[in-house]
Amino acid sequence: MKDLHSFGWYAAKLKPHLPKKAFNPVPTRLWGGLAYLLVTVGCLLTIGMLDFNPFIYIGVSLVIGACFAALGFLGHEILHGTVVRKAWLRDFLGAVAFWPLSTGPKLWRKWHNLTHHVHTQHEEHDPDAWPTLERIMRSRLLRWVYKLPLPVRAFFSFCSLSLQFSVHSLNMFVVYLKEFNPKKRRAVFFEAVLPWISWIGLLVWVGPVKWIFMFLIPLLIANLIVMAYISTNHRLNPTTEVNDPLANSLTVTVPKWVDVLHFNFSYHTEHHLFPGVSSKYYPHVKKLIKEHWPDRYHEMRFDKALLALWKTPRPYHNRELIDPSSGNVYGTLGNGLDTTKIQSKLEEKVNNTKEFMTTISEQKGKKRASKYQ
Ligand SMILES: [Zn+2]
Ligand SMILES: [Zn+2]
Repeated sequence: MKDLHSFGWYAAKLKPHLPKKAFNPVPTRLWGGLAYLLVTVGCLLTIGMLDFNPFIYIGVSLVIGACFAALGFLGHEILHGTVVRKAWLRDFLGAVAFWPLSTGPKLWRKWHNLTHHVHTQHEEHDPDAWPTLERIMRSRLLRWVYKLPLPVRAFFSFCSLSLQFSVHSLNMFVVYLKEFNPKKRRAVFFEAVLPWISWIGLLVWVGPVKWIFMFLIPLLIANLIVMAYISTNHRLNPTTEVNDPLANSLTVTVPKWVDVLHFNFSYHTEHHLFPGVSSKYYPHVKKLIKEHWPDRYHEMRFDKALLALWKTPRPYHNRELIDPSSGNVYGTLGNGLDTTKIQSKLEEKVNNTKEFMTTISEQKGKKRASKYQ
């Protein structure tokens, strides 16, 4: 792998080439949020007040789900402080934007801004990094799951994208709640619980059938949209000891209108270089990165990135990807993975299969030994 540099190193090199105004907040982004909010409320009222055949509601559910996801993208931007600067307003608007996904602003900033951005793709410290083989081997259930054939795992893994954000968010709440200062803990708790109280209140108010179309289906759709992006952000890249966004992040490309609808969320490498700059300026940052380090930068069409994700196994092993069911090893971006022709590195299979089997027996041995201690 090439020499790695921290995101600060890249940012310092590019900062002089960006206009000063790029570092100012951009409150006009809120007009987009207001539009999504109005469409969401309009759709919720349509289902809530009018009695149609429930199948007609599905189209409305799709629109609500798309709005939920887009509000999540805006919430991400707001909570990075690139829309408004005042802390209370930032947290209030962030809470509104993340309401459908039921993630509180304080939890999000700790999990995402202070942990994921600081320790991106670090095997131990990034809560969003896919686990390593060694970590997976510690769980009996995961050992069983990873013995299933790769296409079966890929299928279920893609289906689970419709739940992954909500499940991971709940997990982050459990993991980080105790790390907050006791005075803040109550606020973090209420920020997470209040959205759920409102959605459960809606269930009691409108009944289960309408609730499924007003909240449950939109939530699954929103999960699917945000996770389709998030799953391509880093999972084709290697894990890295140094937080180098050009090595550990991927920018996907989508049609311009999709970027408009999703607040340029596709520019993930640019975002990791300048999380404090509005995504409005990321096309400019991209141009600069490509001028300075064209051979280090990774970008891929969104659909091709998803296909590559389907065809490559997980977890990580020695910064590469391994298929525990076959012992096949695949490269990562910038590290031997050719996304036009995805195949395993055959020459590495034998050694790694042996290593893999040794890992399992070592883990089992340790477990047995600990029983008798
Ligand atoms: Zn990221
Ligand atoms: Zn971010």
